[in-house]
Amino acid sequence: MKRYLFTPGPTPVPPEVLAAVGAPVVHHRSPDFLPVYERVLTRLREVCRTENDVLLFGASGTGAFESAVANLVSPGDPHLVVSAGNFGERWVSMLTAYGAEVDVLRYPWGATPDAGDLRTRLGERAAKAVWLVQSETSTGVVADVQALAAAAKEAGALVVVDAVSSLGAVPCETDAWGLDVVVAGSQKALMCPPGLGLAAVSEEAFAALGSSPRFYFDWERTRKAQRTLDALFTPPVSLVAGLDVALGLLLDEGLEAAFERHVRLGRAARAGVKALGLDLFSPDEDRSAVVTAVRAPSGVDSGDVVKGVRDRFGITIANGQGEYKGKIFRLGHIGWFDVFDITTQIAAVELVLADLGADVERGVAVTAALEAFAAAPSPA
Ligand code: PLP
Repeated sequence: MKRYLFTPGPTPVPPEVLAAVGAPVVHHRSPDFLPVYERVLTRLREVCRTENDVLLFGASGTGAFESAVANLVSPGDPHLVVSAGNFGERWVSMLTAYGAEVDVLRYPWGATPDAGDLRTRLGERAAKAVWLVQSETSTGVVADVQALAAAAKEAGALVVVDAVSSLGAVPCETDAWGLDVVVAGSQKALMCPPGLGLAAVSEEAFAALGSSPRFYFDWERTRKAQRTLDALFTPPVSLVAGLDVALGLLLDEGLEAAFERHVRLGRAARAGVKALGLDLFSPDEDRSAVVTAVRAPSGVDSGDVVKGVRDRFGITIANGQGEYKGKIFRLGHIGWFDVFDITTQIAAVELVLADLGADVERGVAVTAALEAFAAAPSPA
C-alpha cells in the first residue's frame, strides 16, 4: 500500500533531501563536509532571520530546548512559562527538573495566549526569562509571539521560543521581534528527517548564562567550535547534508512564499473540515497554519479515525494528545505539502467517518478545500 505521512512532525521529506541523506558518509573535518556545514549554518540564520549564531545539535527539538534550559537556568531562578497545551507543559516539567522557580501562565488547551495577561503576570512576579510556544502542535494554536515577546521585553525578561513546529511555516522574526532564543527541529517545516535540533541565541542570552551543569549542550563551547567549523562532537553529517538541500529548497521558494503557502494550506484544511460538517478544535484563523485540529463527531473515537485512514489508505494522521486523545484528530500541513496532500487527507477522513456511521456531508469537502486554496489572497 502506498504510504502517506500527514502528521505535524515528522513530515514528508522531498526526494532531493532523501538523496542527500543517503549519499556516502563523509568525514566531518574534511573538505567534503566543511562547506556544507558552513552553508547550513548560514542558511539557518536566514531562515531564523537573525544575525546571531544558530547552534546546531544532533538532537530532537526537545534536546535543543533542553540546551536553552541547561544554559539559561540556575537553580532557584524565577522563570515564567506560558502554557496552553502539551508542549507548554513539557517545558514546565523541564524547567522544574532543572530547579527553576517556575511560574506558569496557564490556559486551557486550545486557548490562545494573550499579551495583556502576560504583561499583568510579569507585573506581579518578575522572571528571568519567559518561555513561549509559538505553535502549540497539540492544539493547532499559533500564538502571537511578536506581541507576547514585546510584553516580556518590557518587563526586562529574556524570551525563549519553542518554534519546533513553526519555523519555516509561519513568520518567526528572531531579531526584529527581539527573541533571545528560538528553538526548532529538522523534522517539521524544515522538511528533513528527525535528528537535528537548533537554537538561535542572542548576545543578551549569552550574557545571562546560568549555572546548571552542561556538557554536550554547552552553548559557549558550541558557538566557539561552530565559528571555526570545528564541531565539538561528530555531527550527524548525513542529516546536515539533507538539511542543506532542504533549506536550499525553502529559500529558493522564498520564506514569504512559503508562509503564504502555509496560510493557504490551513485555509484549505479548515474549509474541507467545515464542509464535512465537523467542528474545528484549532482556531479558524490564518495564523493557525501548522496543524488543523478537528473534533471527532459525537460517538466517534478520534483514534478510530486515525486507525481507519491508516488501515484503509496507508495515511498517517495524528490523534489528540493528553486529555484530547480520542477526542480530536490532527491534520498536519507543514513543510513539503501541497493542496493535494490536504484533499487526500480530507477525502480519506470523509470515507472513514462515513464508514464509522458518522453523519458527514458527502461529496463536497474536497471541492471546498480546493476552492479555499485557490481563492486565498495574499495574507495581510
Ligand atoms: N515543541 C513542539 C511545538 C513540537 O511540536 C514538538 C514535536 O512534536 C516538540 C516541541 C518536541 O520536538 P521533538 O519531538 O523533536 O523532541
